[in-house]
Amino acid sequence: MKLNFIDNQLVGSRSGAVLPMIDPASGEQFDEIQRSNAQDVDDAVRSARACFEGPWGVLSAVERGRLLIALSRKVADHANELSAIEQRDCGKPTKQARADVAALARYFEFYAGSCDKFHGETIPYLNGYSVFTWRVPHGVTGHIVPWNYPMQIFGRCVAGALAAGNCCVVKPSEDGCLSLIRVAELAAECGFPPGAINIVTGFGHEVGDALVRHPGIDHISFTGSPAVGIIIQQLAAERHCPVTLELGGKSPQIVFNDADIDAAVPVIVAGIVQNAGQTCSAGSRVLIEQSIYDKVLSRLGEAFNALRVGPPSMDLDVGPLIRQSQQQRVRSFLADAQRDGIPVVAQGQLTREALDTGFYHAPVLLADVPVNHRIAQEEVFGPILSAMPFRDEEHAIELANATKFGLVAGVWTRDGSRQFRMANRVKSGQIFINNYGAGGGVELPFGGFKSSGFGREKGFEALLGFTTLKTVAVRHG
Ligand code: NAD
Repeated sequence: MKLNFIDNQLVGSRSGAVLPMIDPASGEQFDEIQRSNAQDVDDAVRSARACFEGPWGVLSAVERGRLLIALSRKVADHANELSAIEQRDCGKPTKQARADVAALARYFEFYAGSCDKFHGETIPYLNGYSVFTWRVPHGVTGHIVPWNYPMQIFGRCVAGALAAGNCCVVKPSEDGCLSLIRVAELAAECGFPPGAINIVTGFGHEVGDALVRHPGIDHISFTGSPAVGIIIQQLAAERHCPVTLELGGKSPQIVFNDADIDAAVPVIVAGIVQNAGQTCSAGSRVLIEQSIYDKVLSRLGEAFNALRVGPPSMDLDVGPLIRQSQQQRVRSFLADAQRDGIPVVAQGQLTREALDTGFYHAPVLLADVPVNHRIAQEEVFGPILSAMPFRDEEHAIELANATKFGLVAGVWTRDGSRQFRMANRVKSGQIFINNYGAGGGVELPFGGFKSSGFGREKGFEALLGFTTLKTVAVRHG
């Protein structure tokens, strides 16, 4: 049974209640976590506050950076252990689980270096005045994390928040949280003081809700679904608590007829099957110029037919989905597509070792998907790629922007002027030209337009969100 991590101690929930952890590869229970409640959240927030006002608050930026780099190294030293935990918990193929540990280490490395390089400005004002700004931490930050990349998203928000001088209370997903408890233990071993990093597990409507409502939380970073994002924003508004919302996507890959198709095809396939399609920035729509539509579709189809799905330990192209309800969700999208006559071009194969009780789903390539169809508009969060043709650049832009989301886009063209026009007119937080970075790039500011959320994480930009600003005006004559 796994415990919460509060005040540098592993502790049970106050109520003693627990939740089962289910192995996505078999559908069987393999562990338990704490089903925490508002009291546990309160314990964690008090610990974080005491740390912020005590040992964490008195550290210099250099000292904070040294702790962060120590944790980065510790994570790298425990890569095998952490990737094994995440693999079991979330059903990730080995390569993906290892990549997630590497990203976690990299986040702490990147933000370690930022601690003593992030600063305010001086502002020319009236004669006889000196005016400057301080970037100051919010205080205690709350972090609500989903199950698809627990370690990566923990690294993304918590490393930045700590670097900026905050202390953190983290509420991981009830479907994927075990690695984070271990990372918090490793942080304590590195010398992080009690209260700097707290992990409280349980349901969203219990622990997450209590965290957002807690008056001791000064900022919330939420990564998850657009629907829950609305709840978070409403709750936070009641007490004017600032929030960052990293929500879903329906990201387009746009292939023009002058594209390097050999380069594009494997990247487009990887961009949707990575993590079994359970990636906010998955390239789940491929828009192809009419004159090369059949050719690109056939190349994508060959690649899809070659994909293999099986147990995480076999390290194939695709592992299981996180839970049964996710498997049913993907099936329901495909049933709608089938009902509406949308053709299946190709699909991957399940290996014999993939148990019937596991939550597997083969990757599927669909053609001629109408732009307003549910499968072209909503986030499936599974390995399903929807292809549609476009006539010209204007039509490509129209289709690319025709969903409520705007997280990431990929553009494949050799025409330099078109590259800039597309980057300018496609509404998304990140635009990749002749490459695609689903989840990649610790240095690259990341976040959404429209229903994909607001605020930015990653890069130095994240530090703006994890701090607030004081303007100091000194009249000296
Ligand atoms: P989810 O919204 O169901 O849950 C996310 C987190 O919120 C979990 O920890 C959950 O317990 C918590 N939560 C649920 N209800 C809550 C409530 N009422 N109050 C407070 N907290 C609550 O999302 P999920 O299924 O875990 O993750 C998948 C979603 O996350 C997808 O939509 C995906 O696109 C999105 N996502 C976005 C990014 C990004 O950076 N933009 C990254 C990863 C995932």
